[in-house]
Amino acid sequence: MFKNKVALITGASRGIGRACALKFGSEGAKVVVNYHDSLTQAQEVVREIEHGGGEAVAVQGDVSKRQDCEQLVEKTVKKFGRIDILVNNAGIHRESPIDMINEEAWDDVMACNVKGIYMLSVLAGNQMKKQGKGVIVNIGSVAGIFPRDVNTAYAVSKGAVWSLTRALAISLAPEIRVNAVAPGVIETDMSPLCDPAKREKVARSNLRRRIGQPEDIARIVAFLASDEADWITGQTVVADGGSSLVV
Ligand code: NAP
Repeated sequence: MFKNKVALITGASRGIGRACALKFGSEGAKVVVNYHDSLTQAQEVVREIEHGGGEAVAVQGDVSKRQDCEQLVEKTVKKFGRIDILVNNAGIHRESPIDMINEEAWDDVMACNVKGIYMLSVLAGNQMKKQGKGVIVNIGSVAGIFPRDVNTAYAVSKGAVWSLTRALAISLAPEIRVNAVAPGVIETDMSPLCDPAKREKVARSNLRRRIGQPEDIARIVAFLASDEADWITGQTVVADGGSSLVV
């Protein structure tokens, strides 16, 4: 599906980003596996892609820092010559009610989850415009429409991903399509589900009666990034097993 395409995936050392990197790699893309702290895990993702006959490279970078975003784009182009697909997946969560969260944590969440997407999309978008074509897929969250009192900063940041996706789709058209996926609970380090009682509760809280896995999201990201989705832009696909319909 992605032969000769180059995919830059942020936060690809673990969880949903890792699953996206493996999916794109297995579909023929050359993959830039961005990571922040987890060098070893990023290298494992690269090895797994290479083992399947693909090409990949791990590149460190903090998406909340402009200089790192610039370097990520530069290093991708230097290594693989172009950028066809950008997956803005990197995200952080700070659990705290709005009257308890400190300003630093609030700023960290916004810088990684919102500003990072804006900066990288503009920078990679410039490269894609030069090429005449490109695709961006952002990872939002259902928390963006259903905030809870303990995750306000995160929910607000993910609400912003919803509107940022539309704004970028307008600004970067017609060459570049921009869409988002808004997952419900997915089993990753961000949502550890070790406790059997919690697992059962989560599985019962959606219409598919199971726990969402990173690969569930990676398949949707791949579809949105493919030419099959050529007529879709500015949209957010909710991927939560129907949990938002369960009261
Ligand atoms: P995760 O397992 O905690 O992985 C987070 C990834 O983001 C890691 O690869 C981490 O890199 C990277 N990262 C964190 N801060 C970064 C930064 N400043 N710059 C670059 N990379 C950074 O999380 P996940 O569950 O896979 O979440 C991925 C995305 O899905 C996030 O945007 C999250 O909000 C969203 N999401 C998750 C769920 C869920 O239930 N899991 C639900 C809805 C939405 P290092 O390991 O190298 O530090």
